[in-house]
Amino acid sequence: MLKTIGVLTSGGDAPGMNAAVRAVVRAAISQGLDVKAIYRGYKGLIDGEVKTFTSQDVSGIIQRGGTIIKSARCMEFKTPEGRKQAYDTLLREHIDALVVIGGDGTFTGGRLFAQEYDVPVIGIPGTIDNDLWGTDATIGYDTALNTIMECIDKLRDTATSHERVFLVEVMGRDAGFLTLNAAIAGGCEAAIIPERKPIVEQIEEAIGSGRRKSKNSSIVLVQEHAIEGGAATVAQMIEKVHPEYSTRVTVLGHLQRGGSPTANDRILASRMGVAAVQALIDGQRNVMVGIQNDDIVLVPLSKAIHQKKDIKEDSWQAMMVLSI
Ligand code: ADP
Repeated sequence: MLKTIGVLTSGGDAPGMNAAVRAVVRAAISQGLDVKAIYRGYKGLIDGEVKTFTSQDVSGIIQRGGTIIKSARCMEFKTPEGRKQAYDTLLREHIDALVVIGGDGTFTGGRLFAQEYDVPVIGIPGTIDNDLWGTDATIGYDTALNTIMECIDKLRDTATSHERVFLVEVMGRDAGFLTLNAAIAGGCEAAIIPERKPIVEQIEEAIGSGRRKSKNSSIVLVQEHAIEGGAATVAQMIEKVHPEYSTRVTVLGHLQRGGSPTANDRILASRMGVAAVQALIDGQRNVMVGIQNDDIVLVPLSKAIHQKKDIKEDSWQAMMVLSI
């Protein structure tokens, strides 16, 4: 019988994780369940870093970025011995089910654990990369997108004052969603993303002499893993082919993860947190809570992890068409 839910945040932190934790805690309490926060993701599960949460423990956190219950990357959880220790913690703490908030890696670990120990696990997608299949958006994506857009707006002011090409390196792991959509929102000249190659042609198209004539500044976004060496490599490529342009590289780095979550991320996190608790009450297991066409859906973790989410061709075309 379901009496106590454990909740953890794991992997890369994302703005809105706190709102999701708050929602899980309060939804569980409102349904007469106990809820225990597990600190530092799977590391805390192994080490037994667990605390019973009340409604007050999650007050005043909806607007805060990061995660108050901390996140970590934990190699031990990838081993059978580590997962056995994690299970021992669940037994000791009388935790009957887990809500794991994180990305692809977090879900991979959660799914394995659920299979080995017959523990119901519900995933909530918390990652700025928006790379999980089965959900239109992940918690943190909208905030990160807005952060990047604001950075581009600031760079634009200086870019228009000089004949320079600005290369801005954006996060995203294997996915180009952040980069492409930030490029659209920031009116950028090009987006170099893993899903669209070859890169040399893209650069030529974007800043090659013909197209550049009508422009007085160029900002090109480069997804961190689209090319070995990231934005710096693209800068070298440009200067080699077009010595007339001087380049400037800006790596946004961890700035992209920070900040107060947008309204969209807070609402998404709140809805998903409540839905995760309801899913457990309904006897669901090994599913991710997703959002599709503004409806909450449950997606098997295996699909969320293994199926590849494609970028929208119309978005790609919009970026290309509008950057001339
Ligand atoms: P994210 O959840 O943001 O994708 P990571 O890829 O770092 O972040 O994964 C978070 C954690 O999930 C890892 O530190 C590890 O504890 C666990 N994890 C990831 N992959 C596996 C795996 N194949 N088996 C077991 N646990 C895993």
